[in-house]
Amino acid sequence: MKKIINIPIDKIKPDAAGVLKMQGMPPPPAAPPPWRVTSLYHSAEELFLKLSAPTLIMADITIEQFAEVFKGNGRNEPDTPLEKIFPRASHLALFAFTLGPKVCLEIEELLNAHNFALGYMLDAVSSYSTDKGANAAQEVYLDLLSSGGRGQVDDSMRVLPYSPGYCGWHISGQQKLFEFLKPEEIGIHLNKSFLMVPLKSISGVLAAGNIEIHWFKNNYPFCVSCLSKNCRERIVQIS
Ligand code: SF4
Repeated sequence: MKKIINIPIDKIKPDAAGVLKMQGMPPPPAAPPPWRVTSLYHSAEELFLKLSAPTLIMADITIEQFAEVFKGNGRNEPDTPLEKIFPRASHLALFAFTLGPKVCLEIEELLNAHNFALGYMLDAVSSYSTDKGANAAQEVYLDLLSSGGRGQVDDSMRVLPYSPGYCGWHISGQQKLFEFLKPEEIGIHLNKSFLMVPLKSISGVLAAGNIEIHWFKNNYPFCVSCLSKNCRERIVQIS
């Protein structure tokens, strides 16, 4: 199964509280942000809604095929959570999601025109929504598994996305992922540093399986320098 899906904008729409929290501003009940910040947020959101074209590509992959993709060019950390998760998954799919080129060009143009405040806010809004793109991919995949009659999908099944560049999966793993999935079909390319162009894109593997396959302790050597520790939040969300 390989699919290209236009994601409804509502699925990835940003929200002021989430974007401002990501920028380090305290969430309610703290004092509301200054009027100037709220106004910038609304201008950025308006541009985002006008210029984004959220698109997803996904393709099934077997455990054996993914083992090759994950190996990449041998630069992963010696021990990673994902290498223990994917062999226990009941289903796997590679995915890539993008907001498209227009919103990225607008950010660039605003910054080039020294409109730093709006450029920075549009960048934050777009990053926030790109992350929501991974959640949208997660939902689409679970729906496909539930409706397609492919194996048993019961209440204990959870889907989580895992991406190159995080938690010991080296960013160069993008190369093998792209060779298999071919996200160029929706306009995403890789540059020499393995970054995606358009920049507001996200890729990875969707692992579906019993909730327990996603549980792990975050005591890997690389966790020491991890600021987000967002694996904890993800595990709580699916529990
Ligand atoms: S603590 Fe950070 S690096 Fe470690 S597994 Fe969690 S998200 Fe990944």
